[in-house]
Amino acid sequence: MMTPTLRLGVTGLSRAGKTVFITALIRNLVSGGRLPFFFPDAEGRIERAYLEPQPDDAVPRFDYEMHLATLGHDLPDWPESTRRLSQLRITIEYRSGSAVRRMLGASRLNLDVVDYPGEWLIDLPLLDKSYEAWSAEAVAQARDARREPHAKAWLAFVGGLDPLARKDEQAALEGARLYADYLKAARAADHVLHTTGPGRFLMPGDLAGSPLLTFCPLPLEGRRSPPRASLAAMMARRFESYKAHVVRPFFRDHFSRLDRQIVLVDVLGPLNQGGEALADLQRALDAVLGVFRTGASSWLAALTGRRIDKLLFAATKADHIHSSSHDRLEAILRVITERAMGRASATGAEVGVQALAALRATREAEARIDDELLPCIVGVPLPGERIGNRTFDGREQAAVFPGDLPSDPHQALHPGAAPAGLHFVRFRPPRVLPPGVDGEAPALPHIRLDRALDFLLGDWLA
Ligand code: GDP
Repeated sequence: MMTPTLRLGVTGLSRAGKTVFITALIRNLVSGGRLPFFFPDAEGRIERAYLEPQPDDAVPRFDYEMHLATLGHDLPDWPESTRRLSQLRITIEYRSGSAVRRMLGASRLNLDVVDYPGEWLIDLPLLDKSYEAWSAEAVAQARDARREPHAKAWLAFVGGLDPLARKDEQAALEGARLYADYLKAARAADHVLHTTGPGRFLMPGDLAGSPLLTFCPLPLEGRRSPPRASLAAMMARRFESYKAHVVRPFFRDHFSRLDRQIVLVDVLGPLNQGGEALADLQRALDAVLGVFRTGASSWLAALTGRRIDKLLFAATKADHIHSSSHDRLEAILRVITERAMGRASATGAEVGVQALAALRATREAEARIDDELLPCIVGVPLPGERIGNRTFDGREQAAVFPGDLPSDPHQALHPGAAPAGLHFVRFRPPRVLPPGVDGEAPALPHIRLDRALDFLLGDWLA
């Protein structure tokens, strides 16, 4: 019998936790994790899971072994983050929960995990936009007070160009470079700052330095139909080629083939910067999650994964806060993703929201501070991390009282809301050791990873 294949997309903005999530997911499946809320496993029905050769020759393989090796160093390190699309196949052999299917013998499922930068999803609306309309939006956004300091050099450069003058490769190169620098600087300063793209300017993948990225918006100020040989016409042609050769193939060949999707979100960072940063995260996610909102009648629908029947939003790195705050973290993510979720479930997809830590780097303890017993987390801060005036060397442990998450998620999102006053440091990951001679490997610590797996895969292993 044919082995069914489930294609699971894993996405999120840069540093949301995609690489760590996938590495932990695979390791827990193939080397026996402790997954009490992943019911096929808890019921002892998973016989074995193993990696299979990558089925799509044209797609790079997710570098599981290298990521695992980084986590296995004497002083373990976090693996290198996602920069491009990659994929890996895990085959799961299991006994069905149904007596009839059990009589047919052990069942098998191919799980294809597809890792890709969330930044690429913001390009979907470009398919529906002319170069003139996109330019007008992008220029207006660059002039916005929060972005203008980062966009100064680019705005000055394109302001000095005549869009109707003869096309000029050097001007296109310099304009594209300055525009990409601006997007990256705005993102670095504000972490999740929403942008009109192109997504590949932030996360070029294999297109770094490619001529397909040699264009940028121009202040056209209402000028239409520029002559064919003009700079504006050349930029518009390149914008169209970017759509045809980069955006459309990504949606057609990868995104639209996904059956399920998990969107990872780092909520804690923006939460700690205050309501404005959270509102910005919401706008950025709105742009990214627009792909799940295309109505059935839209011509874009054919490109946007009408198959996706389960969508999970997960707030990552929950091991930075005490378990008493995990439900609050979930509640904040629920509010942030409400709009995208409402529309996605209107298309028939089941939507879930969860807080998790794919690889838990801390444990919990209580510490007495000023005669008060406070819930703390204990871990090894990475070298250079600071708490107060103490700087850590990457070897010693510290107990941190991270603070409490706001109880009212709507209040946290209010633009005037003060920073949450949380104390975060980056911790060293736990060391991940290879399986011993008996094939058994120590289980990896996590928070609610098993629930996420159950939501995403459980029914396929019924
Ligand atoms: P990507 O850009 O989405 O692939 O993000 P990564 O998976 O590389 O994660 C970015 C960083 O977030 C990592 O280097 C870790 O510092 C942190 N991180 C990710 N997942 C976890 C987690 O489960 N626990 C903790 N403590 N940190 C995490």
